[in-house]
Amino acid sequence: MSLTSSPTRRRKPMYWNDLNTALKARYGTKVYKLSLSSGCSCPNREDGRGGCIFCDGAGAFAAVGDISAQMEAAKARVAAKAGPHAKYIAYFQSFTNTYGDVEKLEGLFRRAIEGEDIVALSIATRPDCLGEEVMAMLERLADSKPLWVELGLQTIHPQSAAYIRRGYELEVFDRAVEKLRAIGAEVIVHQILGLPGETAEDMAATARYIGRSGAAGVKFHLLHVLRGTDLAADYLAEKFETMTMEAYIAALEGCVRAIPREMVIHRLTGDGAKKDLIAPLWSGDKKRVLNAIHAAFAERDVEQGSNF
Ligand code: SF4
Repeated sequence: MSLTSSPTRRRKPMYWNDLNTALKARYGTKVYKLSLSSGCSCPNREDGRGGCIFCDGAGAFAAVGDISAQMEAAKARVAAKAGPHAKYIAYFQSFTNTYGDVEKLEGLFRRAIEGEDIVALSIATRPDCLGEEVMAMLERLADSKPLWVELGLQTIHPQSAAYIRRGYELEVFDRAVEKLRAIGAEVIVHQILGLPGETAEDMAATARYIGRSGAAGVKFHLLHVLRGTDLAADYLAEKFETMTMEAYIAALEGCVRAIPREMVIHRLTGDGAKKDLIAPLWSGDKKRVLNAIHAAFAERDVEQGSNF
């Protein structure tokens, strides 16, 4: 059963298909993500490419600990909430988790999904890191457990993509989604709202494109400036301004309305490392931001897909 097949109405007409509701409908219980490390680096940070302009490279190239120990530690972190019958997703989030020795990676991923309490494997990577060998590995993994692959598209607008040094063209993303769907993977796409020069309409256009791409889910993030990044240098030189919370919520509304009803929204906002956050400082209080989003969406009767 696909996660996208069971959108749940909250109350009419306010509606969006959030991940927790979708997972609960699918598994009958709350599902927790276990954040794990594959030890992969990122090709966009190598060979003098500099990496994405907002990337702080936190934890880059960290040695991968024993996967069983990583899983135990990750389960311990949620144990108080999760209880003995919880289900989990093995989640390899940081960096490019298909950029490495394929045989070793497959062994690592297999160990991560062998437990019966692991209901899916989620791997974040780049659309330009899905060569033949990697795709063959992903296909084998997808035959064992539901496979999610996260791709950081961020924007469809070429000027913004060049500014953030995304490092691949839109067609590369399109082909990646096609290939991943062909092997039965669910694709989840990241979008950043508030990129310099983009209007709310530009952001909604990106969301609509993601909605039509064949992806199953989307993660919306706010552009935030972290200490030590090239983006911070531009921000401190006053080359752009970050969004206000009100502007973010209004743009987010446009994006939620622009994606299809069945698409699962994995995130309504991101949460960067607070200690390194330069701007916008309001984004550091995630609970307050989420409350404000929920209140505004209720007030405006936001309905996912109403402008798809
Ligand atoms: S693809 Fe990810 S890890 Fe690589 S530079 Fe961009 S944000 Fe950083």
